[in-house]
Amino acid sequence: MSDPEPRPVRLTRAVLEEIRAEATRAYPHEACGALIGPAPGEVRETLALPNQDEDSPRTRFAVSPRDYMAVESAADARGVRLLGFWHSHPDHPARPSATDRRYAWEGLLTIVIAVERGTPRDITAWDVPGPDQPFRQLTLVAGAPEPASAPQEVSCPPS
Ligand SMILES: [Zn+2]
Repeated sequence: MSDPEPRPVRLTRAVLEEIRAEATRAYPHEACGALIGPAPGEVRETLALPNQDEDSPRTRFAVSPRDYMAVESAADARGVRLLGFWHSHPDHPARPSATDRRYAWEGLLTIVIAVERGTPRDITAWDVPGPDQPFRQLTLVAGAPEPASAPQEVSCPPS
């Protein structure tokens, strides 16, 4: 493939906390949301989406095409991108299922967070490198400092 070494996925601390909180709030149902950022792999925002699957909200989520388009155009309008989606796995490991693969789009991230008895656990990131390819796990760098605050780590203000 043209992309033998996929870039790591970076989540800011605020995004990580929001995903954990939303996944916990939705338990025992699945939660899902959109991942938004300025460039591939740079997740700076998440947007919760209503779980549309009323038949079995505990085991699978569905993003309506209308939600998808609304999120994508909102991101476009602000000059950022829709990078993918996250969802929770209540009482299941943080690995995407066969159903998840069926609904995954090539070029978009899939982030999965396990929620075990109401407590958020592992979080993993995946993509689909090509048509008919299985999920590929990506390195997830979670809880990175906000870009604007990064210089605080390396410099002391002159006094
Ligand atoms: Zn899933």
